[in-house]
Amino acid sequence: MEKKRMLTGDRPTGRLHIGHYFGSIVNRVKLQEEYESYLLVADVQALTDNFNNPDKVRKNVREVVIDYLSCGIDPEKTTIYIQSMIPETAELTVFYSNLVTIARLERNPTVKTELAQKRDVFGESVTYGFLGYPVSQAADITVLNGEIIPTGEDQEPLIEQCREIVRKFNSIYGNVLKEPKILLSKNKRIKGLDGNEKMGKSLGNAIYISDSPEEITKKVMSALTDPNRIRKDDLGNPDICMVAYYHNLFSSQEEYKNVCEECRAGKRGCVFCKKQLANNIIEFLKPMREKRAYYEAHPELVDKIILEGTNKAREEAKKNMKRIKKAMKLDYFE
Ligand code: SF4
Repeated sequence: MEKKRMLTGDRPTGRLHIGHYFGSIVNRVKLQEEYESYLLVADVQALTDNFNNPDKVRKNVREVVIDYLSCGIDPEKTTIYIQSMIPETAELTVFYSNLVTIARLERNPTVKTELAQKRDVFGESVTYGFLGYPVSQAADITVLNGEIIPTGEDQEPLIEQCREIVRKFNSIYGNVLKEPKILLSKNKRIKGLDGNEKMGKSLGNAIYISDSPEEITKKVMSALTDPNRIRKDDLGNPDICMVAYYHNLFSSQEEYKNVCEECRAGKRGCVFCKKQLANNIIEFLKPMREKRAYYEAHPELVDKIILEGTNKAREEAKKNMKRIKKAMKLDYFE
């Protein structure tokens, strides 16, 4: 049976951290077995809020791809490609811009949330490009005939907007586009080392897939613990301690149970507890670190994966654009 086509992607604005790993990468690694998988490195979308920092975006394209490969994304099963190298997406974005109102974009809950988080970039006046990124995302999906889009609840309104555009397009130009289906995944949101609900580079509270054992240890030693605990025999509360929170992710369930019991009983020192956690995280990330080192030592292999993936995606995009332009009566001299 032919596999359905699944599309996912990320903005390359920084290396991937364990929040990305648990949030979406684990799921993608699993789903690549089931679907024909395409993974977009959304450099154009990254520019919407980094337009004045092209070096950052450029540098992170490669970093993100190496992170994907290190985490188990298999280029034999997943086509990894660069957004800006598919010009048909930009062309389709222009066509779709006639099918969406500004009011509808402003009402999109995901855009609203992101705008609130990016006040430092935009102030009170948001750019046309940022407001319109759901339109270009709809083009990303449909130019490749994406059928399945795995997403967390927070991103659902973006895919819903894409579905609306598809319906509008088909009602005007004929039944040309496939309406993608949302595959709602319970994306695990991982808190930062400082207890912040979000893990991120700008917050300085992230552990990266590429962090060295020394960096991991240093970061874990600075993690937020129960502030009321001064001495080892003080009775602690693991529920408000980030070290316990991460033990739950990286240690065995038996170990986690011991952490909580010993902490509550005042039988566990925080330094010991942190060192134990750091070792478990280092061990967990070891295979990824090793794979990363391999790809870093073989940049020609990374280039080949990106180029082959992008060429494959481009061919598919060209084929679909031909059908789309024909439906829109834009197929001059064909
Ligand atoms: Fe946190 Fe461990 Fe210290 Fe308890 S003993 S407060 S769980 S670091």
